[in-house]
Amino acid sequence: LSDRLTAALQTLTRKGRLSDADIDATAREIRIALLEADVALGVVKTFIARIKERAKGAEVSQALNPAQQVVKIVNEELVGILGGETRRLNLAKTPPTVIMLAGLQGAGKTTLAGKLAMWLKKQGHAPLLVACDLQRPNAVTQLQVVGERAGVTTFAPEPGNGVGDPVDVARRAIAEAKHAQYDVVVVDTAGRLGVDEELMKQAADIRDAVQPDETLFVVDAMIGQDAVTTAEAFRDGVGFTGVVLTKLDGDARGGAALSVREVTGQPILFASNGEKLEDFDTFHPDRMASRILGMGDMLTLIEQAEQAFDQDQAEKAAAKLSSGQLTLEDFLEQMLAVRKMGPIGNLLGMLPGAGQMKDQLAQVDDKHLDKLQAIIRGMTPAERDDPKMINGSRRLRIANGSGVSVREVNDLVNRFFEARKMMAQMAGRFGFGGGGGGSK
Ligand code: GDP
Ligand code: MG
Repeated sequence: LSDRLTAALQTLTRKGRLSDADIDATAREIRIALLEADVALGVVKTFIARIKERAKGAEVSQALNPAQQVVKIVNEELVGILGGETRRLNLAKTPPTVIMLAGLQGAGKTTLAGKLAMWLKKQGHAPLLVACDLQRPNAVTQLQVVGERAGVTTFAPEPGNGVGDPVDVARRAIAEAKHAQYDVVVVDTAGRLGVDEELMKQAADIRDAVQPDETLFVVDAMIGQDAVTTAEAFRDGVGFTGVVLTKLDGDARGGAALSVREVTGQPILFASNGEKLEDFDTFHPDRMASRILGMGDMLTLIEQAEQAFDQDQAEKAAAKLSSGQLTLEDFLEQMLAVRKMGPIGNLLGMLPGAGQMKDQLAQVDDKHLDKLQAIIRGMTPAERDDPKMINGSRRLRIANGSGVSVREVNDLVNRFFEARKMMAQMAGRFGFGGGGGGSK
């Protein structure tokens, strides 16, 4: 904790914009993190360029060092891209809502159908699963099994009718949904191991037949860089309105998320992270961002540093401390802050060697504080600003004006000079710069 604080304090007097060197150095790290997360190279390039642009305009933070600050910007930008337009599922005005799943074979469509059905059911919907993957012999059975586990009905071609026509099945399923009042229809489709014309044609035909309210492109997060070409092929061949990332329980860093989002502009709606039906959730951009950056600890640190540090207070205190120009007004403010255990109180308390100071400040009880406040308010602004001018006759005037003894006024003034000296010394020691008179 105190290391972090020291680091934060050392940046106190930095002013102006982040330097190009700071930005470049951190951008290199980020670039590596993104490439390691398997974000496609082209996407990395545009992303980094955008970050640099934004970082260049950024004010130097009082709470964070430059590297932390760039990471923070990157994180914000990532979260923005991944979730800036996060939205709920589009539901049809007149049910049934039709959701079509598209993606390569093995992406996790059929599993997702079951997950989605269970999720929808929990939300009070009555989903119907539709088996339009008639390509593989056991694809229909697989969907029926997950449907059963999710506790929902699966619409499938009757066995013994030979290989059915998926478009026909889709059409009949919609009619059945209307008839039996299912309000959401989830259409599972066939995939190939690679993108091919026939697959796209079939998916497009199903799409035309069912007019989906939502077409979800299902993509395996482990696929990494290939996510871009696959997403582009599906975008051009079928079109989609949203993305579902699967297999996030694998060790993939999730670069596919950023690539797909950047290239297609479509939002990521859900995330799948396991084989069980419960391993499923709406997509959380912040979790994905820290996963992609692989800097979870750093992000936590940044958050804490910012919390532990009230910028305005610190800025004011630093300027005053470093120049030894603390006034009685500030002194009073700080005592009040200690009473509230506000940021300055915490800050001082955490500085090594500030124990004495802390005791002095903490001793002050409420009644005493009220009295001190009265004394200080009894001074003219000039006196508060420059306590050195408070001579004997002024002390008497102040004492009479605020209903205290001269001894109490003396006490306060002396205590103030002690505190100011001590703070100026500390400021010097912690490298605030300026004329603190310390050893640094
Ligand atoms: P489809 O060909 O697109 O329908 O893909 P499937 O739903 O059949 O899934 C292919 C394989 O991936 C199956 O073995 C699933 O159990 C598995 N799978 C699907 N989603 C996930 C997931 O989120 N995590 C893990 N570990 N496995 C998954
Ligand atoms: Mg399947």
